[in-house]
Amino acid sequence: MYDAKSMKAEEFISDEEVRAALAYADENKDNLELVDALLDKAELLKGLTHREASVLLACEDPERIERMFALAEKIKKDFYGNRIVMFAPLYLSNYCVNGCVYCPYHAKNKHIARKKLTQEEIRQEVIALQDMGHKRLAIESGEDPVNNPIDYILESIKTIYSIQHKNGAIRRVNVNIAATTVENYRKLKEAGIGTYILFQETYHKESYEKLHPTGPKHDYAYHTEAMDRAMEGGIDDVGLGVLFGLELYRYEFAALLMHAEHLEAVHGVGPHTISVPRIKHADDIDPSAFDNSISDDIFAKICALIRICVPYTGMIISTRESKAVRERVIRLGVSQISGASRTSVGGYAEEEPEEECSEQFDVSDKRTLDEVVHWLMDMGYIPSFCTACYREGRTGDRFMSLCKSGQIQNCCHPNALMTLKEYLMDYASEETRAIGEKLIEAELNNIPREKTREICADHLKKIEEGIRDFRF
Ligand code: SAM
Repeated sequence: MYDAKSMKAEEFISDEEVRAALAYADENKDNLELVDALLDKAELLKGLTHREASVLLACEDPERIERMFALAEKIKKDFYGNRIVMFAPLYLSNYCVNGCVYCPYHAKNKHIARKKLTQEEIRQEVIALQDMGHKRLAIESGEDPVNNPIDYILESIKTIYSIQHKNGAIRRVNVNIAATTVENYRKLKEAGIGTYILFQETYHKESYEKLHPTGPKHDYAYHTEAMDRAMEGGIDDVGLGVLFGLELYRYEFAALLMHAEHLEAVHGVGPHTISVPRIKHADDIDPSAFDNSISDDIFAKICALIRICVPYTGMIISTRESKAVRERVIRLGVSQISGASRTSVGGYAEEEPEEECSEQFDVSDKRTLDEVVHWLMDMGYIPSFCTACYREGRTGDRFMSLCKSGQIQNCCHPNALMTLKEYLMDYASEETRAIGEKLIEAELNNIPREKTREICADHLKKIEEGIRDFRF
């Protein structure tokens, strides 16, 4: 029944195979010889299968867990360097016809304020985001064919890309909207989106159906096969994710990797990113009602193992997590984080009054973008506002093959420095700027190729002089 190349959800996420993988993991979790062999294999940077990965997740030997963390850190450094890509979510509408029991946007929630941004309101939100320094957004919306049809989403994307305010511009719009048709994915591709993101929520079919009792999202196969339709529609960067807390984490982890294996087997390219959200408190939602919540230690282990098992897939951590948790997992392999996020519909341009709350969930990390940038640099990371890969067409398998050959570092590092420089010149506080300038100087000397170093130094000078016509 298990067939990674099948286009049917119940075959590529075969429940039987997930259970077999978990049984294999239980049988072998104390087989330290096998665990060591798997970690040796992971060191070759070719990833691990869902069965192998499940053994590592089940293994509780402290020394081996330390080795997993150390290896995740090493892979992160070797592949992604010390760059962390920055983004912010932009909620367009919270009208929703679905019944997701963990989400306050569910149709039966009558006390949440329902809002949908007009194009003028989107303009105001984007200007506020640009004024913070953001260049990359993820647009979010509930599913409602009447209030938020695809034409509304497309018009909104057009509006976002059209806004040039001071030196600001949104250079990449990622999209997190409900599963849709090949035709609509084609339209999103034509609108110039970056990654199409869709969280599976849970791969466990029976639980999925219970957690999504009503609305179009109830259809497990339609939701699970969405990435295949997106790729058929020409979108080659897709982002997977599981909402941890809904089901047993070991089940989700094995199935998530099976989904990645399926995309690679069928489309020749694995997921561009994996997100690891955990359920949060929200209007009408009490996270303690979900009994599969995971501890911070397990969460960190999952992040480390994702880094080891799919080394070429970026990992995203949102402001659902606190500063302390983010600090811990960034080291283990996270490559993208959001900063200064609002999960309300509107809320960047003007704070939302409490009685009109439209938030999707509480954020834990409430710091400003300047504070987040400052914090990252204090830890030796380079906050990057770069979108060059996407703008230069380095997406999908082209991006993956560059990544696999280790080449991506040659362009990413200087681009990250130059976009950080733009940020420091245009948006940073004095203190953040001072730290950043020192970091850039030190990092410039770390560029091995002399020619690249010279070009980068020249561009940095131009940015300082106010020139902003580079294509990052
Ligand atoms: N409506 C789209 C869909 O069905 O996929 C867009 C998704 S929604 C705007 C973004 C994500 O937020 C969801 O996929 C879900 O995983 C997550 N989410 C919903 N409720 C949440 C909660 N209470 N805590 C944390 N994350 C939540």
